[in-house]
Amino acid sequence: MSSSKHFYINGEWVAPAVANDFEVINPSTEQVIDVISLGSATDVDAAVAAAKAAFDGWSQTSREERVALIERFVEIYMARNEAMGEIISQEMGCPIDKSIRDQAGSGSWQAKGLLRELKKFEFERPFSDRAPNDRLIYEPIGVCALITPWNWPMNQVALKAIAALAAGCTMVLKPSEIAPLSSLMFTQMIHDAGFPAGVFNMVNGDGVEVGTALTGHADVDMVSFTGSTRAGIAISKNAADTVKRVSLELGGKGANIVFADAGEKAVVQGVRHLLGNTGQSCNAPSRMLVERSVYEQAVAQATEEFAKTQVGLASESGRHLGPVVSELQYEKIQSLIQVAIDEGARLVVGGTGKPQGFATGYYVKPTLFVDVNNDMTIAREEVFGPVMVMIPFDTEEEAIAIANDTVYGLTNYVQTTDGAKANRVARRLRSGMVEMNGMPRASGSPFGGYKQSGNGREGGLLGLEDFLEVKSVSGWDPEQV
Ligand code: NAD
Repeated sequence: MSSSKHFYINGEWVAPAVANDFEVINPSTEQVIDVISLGSATDVDAAVAAAKAAFDGWSQTSREERVALIERFVEIYMARNEAMGEIISQEMGCPIDKSIRDQAGSGSWQAKGLLRELKKFEFERPFSDRAPNDRLIYEPIGVCALITPWNWPMNQVALKAIAALAAGCTMVLKPSEIAPLSSLMFTQMIHDAGFPAGVFNMVNGDGVEVGTALTGHADVDMVSFTGSTRAGIAISKNAADTVKRVSLELGGKGANIVFADAGEKAVVQGVRHLLGNTGQSCNAPSRMLVERSVYEQAVAQATEEFAKTQVGLASESGRHLGPVVSELQYEKIQSLIQVAIDEGARLVVGGTGKPQGFATGYYVKPTLFVDVNNDMTIAREEVFGPVMVMIPFDTEEEAIAIANDTVYGLTNYVQTTDGAKANRVARRLRSGMVEMNGMPRASGSPFGGYKQSGNGREGGLLGLEDFLEVKSVSGWDPEQV
């Protein structure tokens, strides 16, 4: 790789059509750690043309050829996992141990899950016993634009790029301009694995210029986007004129319903889950709803856990929280904390301003609001920071109503030792995912939302199918290959 300022088009690292430098900032130190280029519509045209030209050949490759290349990529990725974790930690502020284990680790984990599906996927199958001459053929949709956020950079890039490669699509990746260095490294790994030129292309840039050029491009067949609901709406509108498939993974405002009969650890586990990645996860359980009979006790437990949470440099080993990603995010969180105070939420830990001893870096105080009403701004807007609200409830019906009273519908959580109640509530929650009693969902289970949290499903089988078209054929000779 010659320079962080280059893009990857048609199998080569190339300079941007027009120079447009952009500094990458380490949020722990506020220091510039690298300089990339923001691309233009001209760069997008070149990348899309390369992807279009490569589609015919790549879409005709056998499953075995694609499996071999992706396996080679996974080997390379795993060998460089530590370097990947270091770069993610520097670009978006995740503490180093977690960055190497979870942030970098998620890339190969998702790739392996998709490989497992690719190996057994039935690309051609009979339609029905009653129609022996009908066939369904699953085919790659074409040229894909992959647009990703900064908060779990490799998780999102791998979910999209590996699924698209497995399906036989060609693509242009535009990673977040805030955290682009991991994607430069990912791109080098794709190159080293030996994928044919033009199959995978990467153009850095912002949403307004490169994002818009990609999502409105006549030769792009599908947009797979993860990011804010705001950008998801703009992308859907821009893609409408060319009737692209648009797969969206957007924001969330997850409820964590803690019933009186939840296990002893439920509250502390909920707090830790919210604080993971400094609250910067779309599926963060940011609204804790607690049954009134145990509410005061839960407030005391959550207060203790928030109060003992440490922040620290992302480069230091340990379980502390890092900074939030950028000055912009820092300011947005500060203003949401102030609005919560102004609207009468009771602040028990944290608040505005930086934690003591952290004048430099985008550090936010872990902040807990209690006695919150679900109509308050802090209960409605996605904060994307280490901020949790607690809301009491009296009945199961009320808990379900509060949980569902949001424009989002990504992940909700339920804590109860009553299995029948857990199942009953899970059925009623309007979200793409429900996680109960601290049990993680299995590898390959679909990740995605209802309502304004999006419409796509990523990972595993459904994540592969997102990149496929279905062709329905009659008059098929079942005796022939
Ligand atoms: P963002 O929407 O600002 O940016 C995401 C990406 O979209 C970036 O690459 C950006 O350059 C690009 N972009 C922005 N405006 C665009 C436009 N008009 N057209 C095309 N591209 C555009 O989001 P972010 O701040 O990077 O990420 C945080 C958001 O992502 C949160 O809302 C979070 O909930 C969401 N997220 C969702 C999931 C999920 O799977 N549902 C996962 C991770 C993050």
